[in-house]
Amino acid sequence: MEKIYASLVTIGDELLIGQTIDTNSAWMAQRLNEIGIWVQRRVAVGDDRDAIIRALEEEGRQSHIILLTGGLGPTADDITKPVLCEYFGGRLVQNQEALQNVLHIFESRGLALLERNLEQAMIPDVCTPIFNKRGTAPGMWFEKDGKIYVSMPGVPNEMKGMMQDYVLPQLQQRFQTPALLHHTLLTAGLGESFVAERIKDFEAALPAHIRLAYLPSYGILKLRLTTISPDKLTAGAELKDAFGKMRSLLTDIVVADEDLPMGVILGNTLLAKKLTVGTAESCTGGEIASRITAVAGSSRYFKGSVVSYANEIKRDVLGVQQATLDRFGAVSEETVREMAEGALKVLNTNCVMAVSGIMGPDGGSDEKPVGTVWVAAGGKGRIAARRYHFRYDRSRNIDMTTVAAMNDLRKWLEL
Ligand code: AMP
Ligand code: MG
Repeated sequence: MEKIYASLVTIGDELLIGQTIDTNSAWMAQRLNEIGIWVQRRVAVGDDRDAIIRALEEEGRQSHIILLTGGLGPTADDITKPVLCEYFGGRLVQNQEALQNVLHIFESRGLALLERNLEQAMIPDVCTPIFNKRGTAPGMWFEKDGKIYVSMPGVPNEMKGMMQDYVLPQLQQRFQTPALLHHTLLTAGLGESFVAERIKDFEAALPAHIRLAYLPSYGILKLRLTTISPDKLTAGAELKDAFGKMRSLLTDIVVADEDLPMGVILGNTLLAKKLTVGTAESCTGGEIASRITAVAGSSRYFKGSVVSYANEIKRDVLGVQQATLDRFGAVSEETVREMAEGALKVLNTNCVMAVSGIMGPDGGSDEKPVGTVWVAAGGKGRIAARRYHFRYDRSRNIDMTTVAAMNDLRKWLEL
């Protein structure tokens, strides 16, 4: 079976100067991957005629499918449409469906229509227009020398709608793609080299078409098995078998049998045990609570949070002893333990996480450098406390602390 290659071209000056982070490519790559299309190149170019044409030429040589996003807005800086029209040798004509869509959107929002908005319904006569149910700019599907080029808006939500409703189903119809399957095991508590050592015989015995990737992040090690095969059924059975073997070697460090966010994993554990949770957060400023409530249905186990940033809140709301703060400092085992005990009372939950640390860039000392964090997790009568050293920037330290606290509580719940 021939491998089908794709290139992703994102267009916009804002991407090149780093003002907008290119999330479109990552999302599109994931979706193409799921249907067995191999993304081999990603390139970002500015809103510039020559740069766009060069990218079309180059990627057209490299790939079967070229997906483009960006530059379809109604303002003068967006030039993708006329450039595509020129490149594929067409003429801009009015498209009735797109026109109705623009009129409808403006009417329903009670907005006056400008000439430049009407121009969004002008489409090269050499493409198949793609309806945009979430915005005014239609997408465009071109074919040239056996290659497919699809242009979509840069607005992530509009691009996603077009991909799901039209582009992905069309590509699946057009190309015979192999089944590409993944199964990820989440582990915690053992470094990747130790894990690799433990499963080295299993890894060496894997057939060539099944690959194992180690993906460590935030105290969690993901082990992703990937198989590529023309036959989805066999591939699925083989992968399941390999996954089972790998898992049986790692039972003591398994966190989840799927690639789920920590908030979901913790939530599932709390639900299964019918326990409620709350947080006492100093250095994370509510980030743990935010991560928990990002999960739909979290009201079944999450009760609330005390963001005790100032010492007086640790003392007056959570009941941390002034003497503890004076003697050991806000970032200490003694303080986080008292914060956790206080939160259990104030929030009246079965278990809690409490964190206090120095996130930087300032505030560190020799004894407690930036990145020093104490985490307490547990319930009444049994609280586990642990010190961490994160040596990143402020925002990453907050992320690391958040995941560490959730993982500590998850471990505490397993005991
Ligand atoms: P445009 O189609 O060029 O008018 O893009 C509209 C908006 O979509 C821009 O203001 C960006 O914020 C956003 N955008 C464009 N390209 C991307 C991309 N590759 N990833 C994420 N957002 C994007
Ligand atoms: Mg733009």
